[in-house]
Amino acid sequence: MSQQVSAAPESKPAPPPERPATAADAEPLRPDGAFMRQVERDTGISIGACYGCKKCSNGCPVTFAMDLHPYQVVRLAQFGLVESLRASSTIWVCASCQTCLTRCPNEVDLPRLMDYLKQTVAQGQVPAAEEKTLVFHRAFLGEVAKRGRVFEGGMMARYLLKTGGAFGPEAMANAKLGLAMFKRGRLKLLPHRTRDRRWLKAVFKAKEAGS
Ligand code: SF4
Ligand code: SF4
Repeated sequence: MSQQVSAAPESKPAPPPERPATAADAEPLRPDGAFMRQVERDTGISIGACYGCKKCSNGCPVTFAMDLHPYQVVRLAQFGLVESLRASSTIWVCASCQTCLTRCPNEVDLPRLMDYLKQTVAQGQVPAAEEKTLVFHRAFLGEVAKRGRVFEGGMMARYLLKTGGAFGPEAMANAKLGLAMFKRGRLKLLPHRTRDRRWLKAVFKAKEAGS
């Protein structure tokens, strides 16, 4: 006698995680190419070449933590929805791993676009969706501007002082981690400077001037 085997019910994909509503959600959809042209002019990234194939998003290793998928970031930039982009956590979650760029058939430089958007938030008055990542971003750039190289001790001191990690129980855990890194030769005691200080100053001056 043949036994009837019933097929297992198909599992539905999990819905995307909900995020709290922000002011950017109310941003009216009035497509405007001015922002796209500005980004293309400032960075050389060909946002207009994107045709929405989603290869970038399908290869991105951190979409689980993003509120916008990488292809959506490009689409919003095409539409000029700047406030939604600035309010997004995605620009801070991006790990700059370059996977999306290598997969994109149109060579849309998404990691560079994420950096550009991060910088517009860092320079403006808009609060960042990931405040601690913005503090880290500033601490990192502060080190580069000062020495031309990142001194991990100095960078972490700046970061921990601003985020509260230098005090209380977190301070002990961070000190232990620092000691372990030092023992493995991953943390230097003294900073190093780049020799070409004039070049370094010129780079940051040009950046401030927006060139
Ligand atoms: S892979 Fe490139 S063309 Fe495709 S959606 Fe992403 S950015 Fe656009
Ligand atoms: S660079 Fe950023 S957006 Fe692109 S695949 Fe890596 S994490 Fe994702």
